[in-house]
Amino acid sequence: MSGAKAAVAPMRVARIANAGADFEVVELEIPKPGVRQVRIRVQACGICHSDVLTKEGAWPGIQYPRVPGHEVAGVIDELGADVSGWKQGQRVGVGWHGGQDNTCPSCRRGDFRNCRNLKIPGISYDGGYAEYMLAPVEALVAIPESLSAAEAAPLLCAGITTFNALRHSGAMPGDLVAVQGVGGLGHLGIQFANKFGYKVAAIGRGSGNASLARKLGATTYIDSKATNAAEALQKLGGAQVILATAPSSKAMSELIDGLGPNGKFMVIGATFDPIEVAPIQLITGSRTIQGWAAGTPADSEDALRFAELSGVRPMIETYPLARAAEAYARMMSGDAQFRVVLTM
Ligand SMILES: [Zn+2]
Ligand SMILES: [Zn+2]
Repeated sequence: MSGAKAAVAPMRVARIANAGADFEVVELEIPKPGVRQVRIRVQACGICHSDVLTKEGAWPGIQYPRVPGHEVAGVIDELGADVSGWKQGQRVGVGWHGGQDNTCPSCRRGDFRNCRNLKIPGISYDGGYAEYMLAPVEALVAIPESLSAAEAAPLLCAGITTFNALRHSGAMPGDLVAVQGVGGLGHLGIQFANKFGYKVAAIGRGSGNASLARKLGATTYIDSKATNAAEALQKLGGAQVILATAPSSKAMSELIDGLGPNGKFMVIGATFDPIEVAPIQLITGSRTIQGWAAGTPADSEDALRFAELSGVRPMIETYPLARAAEAYARMMSGDAQFRVVLTM
């Protein structure tokens, strides 16, 4: 045996060296999976607005350099020790839920989604803007054969978040459900809401996305620039659920009066500034406001199977890994139609 075998093949990653730094594409050694980890050969990774947490260092305690990416789809390349139930060559993904500790009070109650030490790929450890990545088995999502890697990737954050928020919203078939924002999250939210049997009102700024929103399954399109969207919803009887996807606290605040009796305002668009609401707005009609974050890998498998069954698909723009900086800028511009995906 020659010593040359010890040479480790390199892989390319797009990473951030420090908070606020630009992307750099560098070659690193392909990592070895540890105990209860697998190595994934990444085929596609969606770019999510939450990647700004990695890019700008907004997540407390994040360490650098860091490879972003929590919408990962690929193939298991190598198994670490003590991995059962997964095999080499299997198609898998990793989403926002990148592993739980199994010991915190939430985990002890089986509420893994709210683990107090939740790991997030691309924040807690290197994510999917890479040719290879390591993931703990707790994070793995099986990908159905009929979905391509580039289609599956955005379903692992944008998809699971809209799917899970809606299915836990309490809305029943036939109920009026409004989806605020026709973007990366909203274009999936409209499709899921339609396939769940809701009457869907899509709310966007301007008339540009009206026909697309109808094509995706909205029965009504409300242009919040031209009309008072809350009043428009009240004319339709009031929304049972408003899924707030666009990251604008001001736009969210203006919509709360569109809720019907016992209506729920479901917040998934992540912002840092406050939503304004007067107590009387909530007391009248017993309305509630709830936030929702993603879901467990098992939830993601539900979302992928439902997408397979119902034909829900993300609309994507793909970029090669080497153009990660450009792809990220495209996502940040808000002009992407609608999810930007890196392909390896
Ligand atoms: Zn995300
Ligand atoms: Zn936990």
